[in-house]
Amino acid sequence: MTGRFKKPNPCENMNHRRPNAPVSHCPECGGVVNGSLPARSCSEAEHAAARRRQAVFCVHCGTQLIFNR
Ligand SMILES: [Zn+2]
Ligand SMILES: [Zn+2]
Repeated sequence: MTGRFKKPNPCENMNHRRPNAPVSHCPECGGVVNGSLPARSCSEAEHAAARRRQAVFCVHCGTQLIFNR
């Protein structure tokens, strides 16, 4: 932990590099990629669909969908 360059977020998802990401959360790390989008609540069906797309986090609300990877 000492003497190493600090990386705030090692995630390489392209949404982090977009100035205006179409989603509010990153599907890989759950971090906020666009804080200007309004928070929304998702249905369980939407989360189930996101799980099938291998999204670890919901891009709309940031909820973790897959726990063991
Ligand atoms: Zn990320
Ligand atoms: Zn959600």
